[in-house]
Amino acid sequence: MSQPYKHLFEPLDLGFTTLKNRALMGSMHTGLEDKAKDFPKLAAYFAERARGGVGLIVTGGFAPNIEGWLSPFGSKMSKKSDVKRHLQVTKAVHHEGAKICLQILHAGRYGYSPLCVSASNIKSPISPFKPRALSTKGVYRTINDYANSASLAQQAGYDGVEIMGSEGYFINQFLVTHTNKRTDEWGGSFENRMRLPVEIVQAVRREVGPNFIIIYRLSMIDLIEQGSSWDEVVQLGKAIEAAGATIINTGIGWHEARVPTIATSVPRAAFSWVTGRIQDHVSIPVVATNRINDPAVANDIIERGEADMVSMARPFLADSDFMNKAAAGKPESINTCIGCNQACLDHTFGGKRSTCLVNPRACYETELNFSPTNNSKKIAVVGSGPAGLSAATVLAERGHTVDLFDKASEIGGQFNIAKKIPGKEEFYQTLRYYDNKIKETGVNLRLNEGVNATALISAAYDEVVLATGITPRKLELEGADHPKVLSYIDVIKEQKPVGQNVAIIGAGGIGFDLAEFLTHQGVSPSLDIELFNKEWGVDSEYQNRGAYGYAEPEAPARQVTMLQRKDGKMGAGLGKTTGWIHRASLKMKNVQMVRGVEYTKIDDLGLHFTIQGGEPQVIECDHVVVCAGQLSRRDLLDDLQGAGITTHLIGGSKLAGELDAKRAIREGFELGASL
Ligand code: FAD
Ligand code: NAP
Ligand code: SF4
Repeated sequence: MSQPYKHLFEPLDLGFTTLKNRALMGSMHTGLEDKAKDFPKLAAYFAERARGGVGLIVTGGFAPNIEGWLSPFGSKMSKKSDVKRHLQVTKAVHHEGAKICLQILHAGRYGYSPLCVSASNIKSPISPFKPRALSTKGVYRTINDYANSASLAQQAGYDGVEIMGSEGYFINQFLVTHTNKRTDEWGGSFENRMRLPVEIVQAVRREVGPNFIIIYRLSMIDLIEQGSSWDEVVQLGKAIEAAGATIINTGIGWHEARVPTIATSVPRAAFSWVTGRIQDHVSIPVVATNRINDPAVANDIIERGEADMVSMARPFLADSDFMNKAAAGKPESINTCIGCNQACLDHTFGGKRSTCLVNPRACYETELNFSPTNNSKKIAVVGSGPAGLSAATVLAERGHTVDLFDKASEIGGQFNIAKKIPGKEEFYQTLRYYDNKIKETGVNLRLNEGVNATALISAAYDEVVLATGITPRKLELEGADHPKVLSYIDVIKEQKPVGQNVAIIGAGGIGFDLAEFLTHQGVSPSLDIELFNKEWGVDSEYQNRGAYGYAEPEAPARQVTMLQRKDGKMGAGLGKTTGWIHRASLKMKNVQMVRGVEYTKIDDLGLHFTIQGGEPQVIECDHVVVCAGQLSRRDLLDDLQGAGITTHLIGGSKLAGELDAKRAIREGFELGASL
């Protein structure tokens, strides 16, 4: 068989060293970097990815000094005493045949710390701390700190460093007038503003010698007003090359940019065009990044000549074996990153250890393992939603005999509804993965079989896992059975016709998704880069600074009003890093949000309510769609337990409140590992 994805698997000669393929595992802060005691876990996590075939790994960010901390007492590489613990990481990765670079990240005004510094003392809109403007001397000292950090990385056995110059961090803050109001040699003209990154790369190169990889992460599209112009990006790229960088990696958008750059609603490879533009201006290898989660997409980028390498970060959390599976021509067996951010970035920003919604073993490699069973049992798993799928496949992989029942004609439970939401098309990939995994592990799949307790008892299972999910909560309200009342299942799954004016009761995750579903028409912008750029104002002609123009969203397909009883912020429970995207998207679609309501009744006119005992109000509408939360479905439990069968509950059948696929899959994994 010829090598599949041959461009992705072509070695890359860097002169003094060769990378075995064109895949770079991009930097992610997992939380394991922050404490010395977690380094054995960090080493195991990276070693598993190295074993999985990736050519080059970049660590999470390490600050060159305490002013550059992401958060107090966070990861830092500034002292000789920091070196020893890193040796575990570099040895483990080298043992598995990959190379690894340490990322040097100075957070600047994004530092969640009162010690933070920046070019000027201008607070970022996403941080509570106002930075101190670094003195002229302080800038020189910081350059030395970068060089010192790189030298320590070299002593710790790293193959190189990545200098983080993008995403709105410290270096970026010097580059643009938006954040740099200095009048010394580090401010004013672009030549002065770009001196910082250029002098950092020069100082690092002097310190580490010629045979050490220096990756510079260059912000190629800031996506903020007064961001860099394209000419400035090119000028900087050339200067970085001349200063001694080995590779230029791409940075997309500042963290404070109001354009989604990595969420699931961003089309795959939506920003590789910008890396393609710089290719002609520099001669060192360049790396494309953002929303590349599939070997064919990665291969195409290199084949099209947009980049020499491709950076994937979250896809290696989702599947450490991504590259080996691609090399073997088995893309169907890859557990694809769905871009949800729920267990990775949301955890990082919540101060929790990162992991992955579709792969709860990520960052738990030493703690959650599936050893073969020496007591094989006959087990029924009822329900093939995310919880049932993960439990059934782990149990079968470990050597149990597993029957997986679902009354539906396809696996996936609620994921079959989620995948129909514009912007959530990636959720289909998890079902494709499990479809394949069921075959690989030998799970006996029995679709169209709504089982009852009697059938399970008479089949004499040793144990039963109930993963029967939820039922939508029904309204207890006058007119709840009015013909204009629909459930989200009627609308999204059953595709029942919906009128032009709609009220949605409930503004949780499903209410937001339903509003998205009802207001979009035509092709989903997540599947079309041009539509996406238009919707969010990404200027692919790069006429404006920061390539940030005026958004021209499609007109909404319907007039939608969302309501909730709580008086708090609408969508407060949405993801930390994605909630703003959902809110901004619905705002563009002119969705009205009404909070603090008390529902009165539904009748021919529409939905009646009051706000805090005020005047009665009515939304005249064609339909009222109910997204009022969910209740556990566990009707088989009592009979099974009564018959003395050991029965386990996971996912929605265990607890409907606070349910999401992250919990459902994790509970399936944990139970699967324990029986
Ligand atoms: P379910 O997915 O509900 O699966 C239960 C299964 O059991 C069903 O297939 C059902 O047919 C089967 N079943 C029930 N009774 C029987 C029986 N007696 N015999 C046989 N089979 C039976 N979560 C996230 O984390 N992120 C998101 O972005 C997200 N978006 C969503 C968007 C929408 C529109 C919806 C509806 C849900 C979304 N969710 C999301 C929620 C997520 O899908 C659920 O949390 C998850 O599916 C729960 O998994 P589960 O396995 O517990 O139950
Ligand atoms: P939810 O997030 O709990 O929201 C339920 C909504 O219904 C709330 O707005 C609640 O607000 C309202 N409500 C509750 N009881 C009600 C009642 N008796 N009458 C009227 N309104 C009532 O649940 P969900 O939207 O059904 O989502 C289910 C799960 O799927 C969630 O836990 C979520 O995590 C997951 N999910 C996640 C995403 C995501 O993007 N991460 C997307 C979709 C779903 P008030 O009580 O204030 O009225
Ligand atoms: Fe990808 Fe979601 Fe896993 Fe993060 S949690 S790696 S976004 S699938």
